[in-house]
Amino acid sequence: MTFDDGPHPSHTMSILEDLEKYDGHATFFVLGSRVQHYPEVLQKMLQQGNEIGNHSWDHPQLTRLSKNKIEDQIEKTQDAVEKATGIEPNLVRPPYGAINNNVREYMEDMKVALWDVDPEDWKERNEKKIVNKVMGKAKDGRIILMHDIYQTSAQAAGKIIKQLHDQGYQLVTISELEKVKKDRELSGITISE
Ligand code: ZN
Repeated sequence: MTFDDGPHPSHTMSILEDLEKYDGHATFFVLGSRVQHYPEVLQKMLQQGNEIGNHSWDHPQLTRLSKNKIEDQIEKTQDAVEKATGIEPNLVRPPYGAINNNVREYMEDMKVALWDVDPEDWKERNEKKIVNKVMGKAKDGRIILMHDIYQTSAQAAGKIIKQLHDQGYQLVTISELEKVKKDRELSGITISE
C-alpha cells in the first residue's frame, strides 16, 4: 500500500498503528510543506520499517513548471525529510502522476513510483466503498494508492490492512516489492494474473 499527501498528525498515525498491528509496511509519499510540521510522524514511519517517498513540496502539477521550480519542489522536500529523519528519499511520485522529460531529467537518480489500484478515496470519502474498491482489485504484486489525510481513508485503510493480512498477503514497501519481484525473476517464479 502507498499513502500520498501526508503526513497528518492523527490519520497517518492511525494507519501506522494498523500496519504495526498486522505486521505490514507501506510507502508514504509526503509533501515537504507538511513534513516540517510533523517530523515525529515521519520518524515513526521509519522506526516501523516503512518507507518515505517524495511527493513534491505543495502538490503542483510539475509538468506545468519551469525546470527551476521543479528542482525547488523536489529538493526542498528532500531537505525537509532529511531534516526530520536523517534520510533522503530515493523514490518520488509526481503529483497526479504527471511526468514529462523536464521532470524526468531532474529525477535522474530517483526512482519514479506510480500505482496500479486507485480507489479515488480523495473523492469517494466513503469507508465501505473504498474498502470494496480496493479489495476487488488487490492482487499479488499490485501497488495500491490511498491518501492519509482523510479520516475515511484512514478508517478504510485499517479494514483493508486487516483483510489483506487475513487473506495471507504480506504488505510491503515499494522497495521491498521491487526486491521480491527481482528475487522471483531470478528463481523463475512468475505472478499469475
Ligand atoms: Zn497527491
